[in-house]
Amino acid sequence: MRFRILVKIPIVAFFLLMAIVSCSTDNVDDSVTDDGGLDDDEIVTELHAAFAEFNSDATTIYLDGSNVVIETTGLPNHETVYWGEGNELYIEEDGVATTPSIMSSNNNATTITVDATPDLTGNTVATQLNTIGIAVSGASIFNDQEGNGALDQAAASLDWTGAHIGPGVYHYHLEPKAFTNDDDNLVGILLDGVFLYGRRDYPSGDYPTDLDESGGHFGPTPHNPDGEYHYHIINEVYSTTGSYLAFAGPYQGY
Ligand SMILES: [Zn+2]
Ligand SMILES: [Zn+2]
Repeated sequence: MRFRILVKIPIVAFFLLMAIVSCSTDNVDDSVTDDGGLDDDEIVTELHAAFAEFNSDATTIYLDGSNVVIETTGLPNHETVYWGEGNELYIEEDGVATTPSIMSSNNNATTITVDATPDLTGNTVATQLNTIGIAVSGASIFNDQEGNGALDQAAASLDWTGAHIGPGVYHYHLEPKAFTNDDDNLVGILLDGVFLYGRRDYPSGDYPTDLDESGGHFGPTPHNPDGEYHYHIINEVYSTTGSYLAFAGPYQGY
């Protein structure tokens, strides 16, 4: 919820300013009521079909008015060295400069609240450090930053599925190969309410060629054949990782 509020304040301020500046014209009322960003009263009655893909052991997902709330334990349903020895999903990964294990961290749980209908009418918004979305596995998605620098510095600690931990939640920076590997699979949902898919488009199976700066475009998805705005993992190898950034922003749906 606080993400949304932070973004909406400047938008409201902008329209107040517009109303003051242009109060002598007859079109002011129309320009305000026509803006989707100010219309938050819409009640959505059904969860988007894509939410059926999320790990139900980790996530609890429900509608709250015009929002969707996603509560997660943050514990992914796939193997990684980060589970730590003794866990049934632990695997050895030679060459990964490991940070603390998942189970040694006591703050994996995260709750995000997103718009059930993304607002694509406003300005773009940069991503921040920390959780930028929740993946279908139940774990967090982060952007291309690590601490105060570029991800390169921490690349050695990324596991086989482009994730690591520490000091907070286990999170993906790169294409999460545990559930998307050069395909059109659902990756997760981002804080602006837009779904993120793999590198290939549905139903063609090709790499999309009409993506905006965020990796987004309008078109059909496996969960909405009629088409909607969605992101893809951009098909450009990142630095020396041999893999692809999950999402570097900016958000289009705030
Ligand atoms: Zn990280
Ligand atoms: Zn697409």
